[in-house]
Amino acid sequence: GDWLGMIGGGQLGRMYCHAAQSLGYKVAVLDPDPQSPAGAVADLHIRAAYDDQAGLKQLSERCKAITTEFENVPAQSLETLASASLVRPGAQAVAVVQDRIREKAFIKNIGVPVAPYAAIHTPQDIDAAAEGLFPGILKAARLGYDGKGQARVKTREEARQALESFGGVACVLEALLPLASELSVVMARGADGQAVFYPSARNEHRDGILAVSTVDARSPDQAIAVQAANAALAIAEGLEYVGVLCVEFFVLQDGRLIANEIAPRPHNSGHYTMNASVSSQFEQQVRVTAGLPLGGTASLCSVVMLNILGDVWFDDATGLKREPDWPAVLAVPGAKLHLYGKSEARRGRKMGHVNVLGATVADAVGAASRVAHALGIPFQP
Ligand code: ATP
Ligand code: MG
Ligand code: MG
Repeated sequence: GDWLGMIGGGQLGRMYCHAAQSLGYKVAVLDPDPQSPAGAVADLHIRAAYDDQAGLKQLSERCKAITTEFENVPAQSLETLASASLVRPGAQAVAVVQDRIREKAFIKNIGVPVAPYAAIHTPQDIDAAAEGLFPGILKAARLGYDGKGQARVKTREEARQALESFGGVACVLEALLPLASELSVVMARGADGQAVFYPSARNEHRDGILAVSTVDARSPDQAIAVQAANAALAIAEGLEYVGVLCVEFFVLQDGRLIANEIAPRPHNSGHYTMNASVSSQFEQQVRVTAGLPLGGTASLCSVVMLNILGDVWFDDATGLKREPDWPAVLAVPGAKLHLYGKSEARRGRKMGHVNVLGATVADAVGAASRVAHALGIPFQP
């Protein structure tokens, strides 16, 4: 079969490999980590840094189309690859999304509301920030994920300290908003501009990390979800985006919808599509990368996705590590387990997820609470 290329060796790359291989492709993964989850299942693992010229050359000679699984791939590398291969998404779109300052300005400019914010380059920018940005969150403009590189700050003084603790890197300071809920839109846009949307998931975070996503297959998308899908489409079109992307949204207590950030790739909140949708978000990424028709996004059932963090390896009583009780998870009807093959369980590290399926959302929630109990994860329906 033909070869597809993947920059990045994490779990998203691994699930992409599985989907691509199902459709008859071979995948070459570029990642420096010899133990990377995607490298372990790829047909070829090129062990090189994301900006290594020889590695990039090997990737583009092998693959006619290349994609990525994380936003921090150097945009320059995508640019380099684009001279020899199709690269989806393109360097321009990724360059905007990987810098929170450019990302926020772009979204606002499109006419989609974002949290009130200021770009912070120096301590003086904090002195000059509007009073309304406190209490706020200082977020490093680059390289953050899972709430890393972020600090909640009540005062200017705390913001100055946080900026210093980040080593003075460029940041955005945004107002801490009163959230009613969080939702995300995962969508795909083909090279011809055609776009498809998955039903938006309702997301719950714990300590800045996604914990639970829920999709009710029976309730048609509510007005707020339609609004979110339209905003995501405007963003994708504005970026001339080709590929799978996710836009995270906040719903405020007064009902307003605010865009938080864009992920230029499949997203954790879209993992539910692996078992509960006609085509998974990873199959969709394969289709877009390879120039195939887009797949169906309809839901087959309701679903609750539970993230499995490294914390569940730690026994509460002893604090020692032990293997979680997978048979107890698998005993729950509707539970579909996905483990990423990571070398070591660490607290806060994403190790896998469980998609718990149900004919109704109540069924899925009931089964999910049994799975959560088996893993010792807190779960409040
Ligand atoms: P990801 O892993 O999604 O890339 P991240 O490190 O980029 O995470 P954000 O998505 O910016 O972080 O924030 C993580 C979570 O923190 C959000 O999902 C939300 O729960 C909370 N949060 C972020 N910004 C705000 C805000 N302005 N007001 C209130 N809560 C916020
Ligand atoms: Mg992020
Ligand atoms: Mg986020």
